[in-house]
Parts: sequence; C-alpha cells; structure tokens
Amino acid sequence: MTEKLYYESPYISEFNAKVLFCEEKNGRFLTVLDKTAFFPTGGGQDCDKGTLDGKDVTDVFEKDGLIYHETADRFENGSEISGKIDFDRRFSFMQNHSGEHILSGTVHKMLGYNNVGFHMGSEFVTVDFDGPMTDEQIIEAEKRTNDIIFSNIHIKTYFPSTEELLRIDYRSKKELSGDIRIVEIPSVDICACCGTHVENTGEIGLLKVVEHMNYKGGVRLFILSGKRALEDYSAKNSELYHIGVMLSKKTSEAANGVEKLLEELSQKRYENSVLWKKYAEKTAESIKETDGVSVFCENGADNDALRLIAVAASKKCCAAVALSQDKDGITRYAISSVKTDSRILNKTLCGAFSGRGGGKAELCQGTLHGNAAEIADFIHTNT
Ligand SMILES: [Zn+2]
Repeated sequence: MTEKLYYESPYISEFNAKVLFCEEKNGRFLTVLDKTAFFPTGGGQDCDKGTLDGKDVTDVFEKDGLIYHETADRFENGSEISGKIDFDRRFSFMQNHSGEHILSGTVHKMLGYNNVGFHMGSEFVTVDFDGPMTDEQIIEAEKRTNDIIFSNIHIKTYFPSTEELLRIDYRSKKELSGDIRIVEIPSVDICACCGTHVENTGEIGLLKVVEHMNYKGGVRLFILSGKRALEDYSAKNSELYHIGVMLSKKTSEAANGVEKLLEELSQKRYENSVLWKKYAEKTAESIKETDGVSVFCENGADNDALRLIAVAASKKCCAAVALSQDKDGITRYAISSVKTDSRILNKTLCGAFSGRGGGKAELCQGTLHGNAAEIADFIHTNT
C-alpha cells in the first residue's frame, strides 16, 4: 500500500519518499513510492501533475492499493527521491470539489435530488441532478451555497468504522465497498468521497452556476468555484466593459444598449429594402426592351437588393444579371430570367470565375472570383 499524504493533509505539496519499484510500460516508466502527495485520477477528479526529482509526472493512477506515477525516466529501486505537486492546479481542484459538495448538499436539501454525475473538465465543472430545476431554484441554490461558503465552516474528513458508518446518513453516487471516506460539512452535507477538499469553506471563495441545460430528465449545471470563478468573472467583465465602451454606455447598461442598436439595425434594414425596391423598379423602367442579357453593376447592393434588381429588369430582357463587387475581390451576383433558364448562365459564370452558386430556372444567386467590370464584359461577349 502507498501511504496517501493527501489524506494526511491536502496542503502537502512537497515530500520525500522511497522508490518501492519502477516498471517500464510502452516506453514510459511507472514508479510506486512508499508514500506520495500525488492524488491519482478518481471520483471525478483528474490526477495531480508535478515532478519527481525534477522529472515531469504525466499521469497518476491507483491500482490494488498502489499509486503509480508515470514519467519518461526510470528511478532506481530503493532510492530516495523528492516529489513536488503543482499546487495551484491542486488547490483549484480542492476549491471546485468542495464547492460541488456544498451545492449538491444544498440542492438535495431543497429538492431531494441526487447528484448522479460529476466531472471536473478543463473549462467547467459539471454536476448532474436527477430532477429538473427552474431558473429561480438554481439562483436560490447558488445563493445558499455562497452563504455557506462565506460562513467559513470547517470541513471534516474521516474513515468511520463499519459500525459508525451504519449510523451516518451520507450521500453517495454509487454503491461503495472497502474503506469509505466521509467528507462532512456540518449541518450542510455528508458525502462519501475520495477527492481532495479545502479545510474551511471560506477558502472556496465563491461558487457561480455559469450555465445549465436539461439532461436525462434532470438538469446539468456548469459551475465554477474559487480562482476559476474569478478568472471567468474577469474575462466576462472585460468583454462587457469593451461592449460598454463601444456603445458609450456604462457596463450595467450594455445589454440595453445592444438591444437599442438591434432595433435601429432592424429599422435601417427595412428602410434599406424599401429604397432598393424603388431603385430596382426605376432601373427596370429606365432600360429598353432587348432580347439580350442586361447587366447591372451595383457595388454596395446586398443579396436581397441584387435579387430585386435582377427580377425587376428581367421583365424587359432575355435575362438580367446584377453584380456587386466586395472589397476582397469577390463579386456577388443574381441572375433572373422569365424567358430562359438562369441555371445555364449560372453554370457558365461559375465555371469561368471559380464561382459558387445555384438556384431555380427563374433565379440564381452566388459568388464569383473576379471584379464586376470583368464579369460584365465576359457576359456581353459570351451571350
Ligand atoms: Zn469530494
């Protein structure tokens, strides 16, 4: 058995230990020590990272009571080596794991739901509950969780005897066997858990439910605690501040500013479409009837405007093409015809100008590589 220093204290980040044995597997080396502060992957928590004698530890796992440390280098059996874990990473796990306990205990008390899934990912920590929650219930659970965090309650961890365990009413995600480790936050939650936690709830700092979604008849909450919650807050605050500056609004009025901007945009789009419609009708009136193809270069016209111009003009010719050249050398087009099949000219243009587009016999739209004048010349020459 490897002595688990992370159960003696989750704050041990450096230690000395003796190499019991070291074995090679697939070109890597797996070392077992007499004791370790490295937490192995388990219980929804990723393993610790760090070094043994300055060599990177890339994986840590437990098998049959022994904890294996994966490195690129071999260590001599019986040698004394020093270990160091990445404590910033570990402490973040401790904050997030402890925050999850309080939230799960709080939701269990509020609604009787069980935590049926837990995962600490690189972006979020997710917790799945076996019942649905309204937005108000999520806000209330988050508020109660943070009240408990701010109360700075001491978190107890212990291995009770079989008899003692029978008298403890604890939460558990699955049927457990062997030594059961209990994590107790007095008057908040009692849970069986093998992970690492902070000693006092105040160290969690805060917990934020960032997103939620319906999941398997229940709910999945995406949560962040401690430093990760602070980093998320900083990133979002920076985004919101930036939006506020662009709108010349206070951060607290950014959403309102965006809403107004969208209303204005919608109105401008409507006005624009009315003007283009009038312009298309006037353009069609101004041209003479012809059996040929009429081409209109209308740089600045959007796709709806191109369609309006081509459709209006096509009533007075065999086919009408409206072109609008963008800054990047791409020309958007609309082809309309009531007398012939627009798809024929569409195919010719796409072939000649590496284009992409399509549609029906009456109308085709797409993009071409080339400038509008060059494309207009090509149409006049080839039709
Ligand atoms: Zn835990």
